[in-house]
Amino acid sequence: MTNKLKYFIGNWKMFGDLNSFKIVNTINHFSVTLKKSKKKIKIVLCPPNTLIHSFNKKLKHKTISLGAQNCHYQEKYGAHTGSVTASMLKKIGAEYIILGHSENRSEGEANKTIKQKINSALNQNLNVIFCIGEKLNEKKNKRTFSVIKKQIKDSLDKKFNINKIILAYEPVWSIGTNILPKKNDLRLTIKYIKKEYMKIFKSKKIPKVLYGGSVSPNNIDLFKSLDEIDGFLIGGASQSSKKFIDIINNYYK
Ligand code: PGA
Repeated sequence: MTNKLKYFIGNWKMFGDLNSFKIVNTINHFSVTLKKSKKKIKIVLCPPNTLIHSFNKKLKHKTISLGAQNCHYQEKYGAHTGSVTASMLKKIGAEYIILGHSENRSEGEANKTIKQKINSALNQNLNVIFCIGEKLNEKKNKRTFSVIKKQIKDSLDKKFNINKIILAYEPVWSIGTNILPKKNDLRLTIKYIKKEYMKIFKSKKIPKVLYGGSVSPNNIDLFKSLDEIDGFLIGGASQSSKKFIDIINNYYK
């Protein structure tokens, strides 16, 4: 089994209340026991903004990190009802932030806006989880690579610190559907993302790329042999401590 650092990042979406702390606490306990093993794992949970502060204060012997799921593109105060800045999230304990998720893209978030959000988040020293991926019709029309390339080109910048950005390849047709990409397609796409990033930005640094879309304890086995994947962005299954922990245990079994 691999000895490379792997990320297991939970995206709770619009789930959770103050009682959900028990999920976070159980995962943190599990993570403490992991520290004793030699596995290189980074666990991040991204609950809704309403919970970050409280979870952060309540967690003892914290070995996991907390993250947010979006922010406004503006860095400073503005008349944007219902929005928060990256700095507000940083101040309440977020260390990571998911940006460019397809659920926000589907509500009109454009590549250019995502770029501004990434810039804002990096200025706050947040670690960015930048989501990319094609829709079903784009896949059918064999446009996966061109869509991904445009998303990378239009939302990243050479001046961004790639050490603070993790790309997450999430084919939209795989999110919440239990449909997974074919293993070889996934391998080729992850390789393409890494190569294309390096080509576009003439970078010698290889970016980290996660996979996201219907990851569960029952299918995590399939990803074991794909060492080019640097970890997983887990939606539905991260809302249960048992499923989240089973994913990690099964991955290393
Ligand atoms: P899913 O969601 O694991 O429920 O498919 C993944 C995501 O949207 O990040």
